[in-house]
Amino acid sequence: LWITLEGGDGSGKTTQAERLEHWLIEEGRTVVRTREPGGSEVGQLIREIVLHHRGDIAPRAEALLYAADRAHHVATVVRPALERGEIVLQDRYLDSSVAYQGAGRVLDATEVRDLSLWAADGALPDLTMLLDLDPAAARARLDSADKPFDRLEAEKVDFHTRVRAAYLALADAEPERFLVVDAAASPDEIAEAIRARVAAILPP
Ligand code: C5P
Ligand code: MG
Repeated sequence: LWITLEGGDGSGKTTQAERLEHWLIEEGRTVVRTREPGGSEVGQLIREIVLHHRGDIAPRAEALLYAADRAHHVATVVRPALERGEIVLQDRYLDSSVAYQGAGRVLDATEVRDLSLWAADGALPDLTMLLDLDPAAARARLDSADKPFDRLEAEKVDFHTRVRAAYLALADAEPERFLVVDAAASPDEIAEAIRARVAAILPP
């Protein structure tokens, strides 16, 4: 079973990934919790470039860096875990690229998706949780969090507004894969909604 979490910066993906992981472990499951970019050693190096390079990266170059991270991650971490029958719980996947490199950077969304699918040899998760949050609310959360901004988190609000709209369009297009959760709800309520959906598809 492969579950991905998506949503804008500050939408609470990491908190919910942690909570879902703990619950699945309590249920006796083996969980591989991972993320993109940076879910492998090669990916860590790529993450360093895409998040901490000082100065601009050409949009197509950025898209290829994320795709390279994804290709290596799926081949060396995700597929092996799924083949062992483990649950993969992943912070961000190809929907992030469609939203950020596609809508955010204004590349062609279909091309970005096709690039990602090529990189991942067609692999798609069983379930994708979209934590949907107004960018202004997300910004307020990030501003109050005691951590430095990533290169991307410093983007203007209209960038994040495009990202949010793209995510919602993706969820509309694939309602059977997506669960859209109101990320303004309390962490407990969100965790509960996520558990209910995951419980419904947990293998015996
Ligand atoms: O989710 P996480 O905080 O690890 O993401 C790191 C940064 O990379 C975020 O600021 C996010 O906006 C950005 N990102 C991106 N394109 C992706 C994945 C992440 O711009 N495909
Ligand atoms: Mg972040």
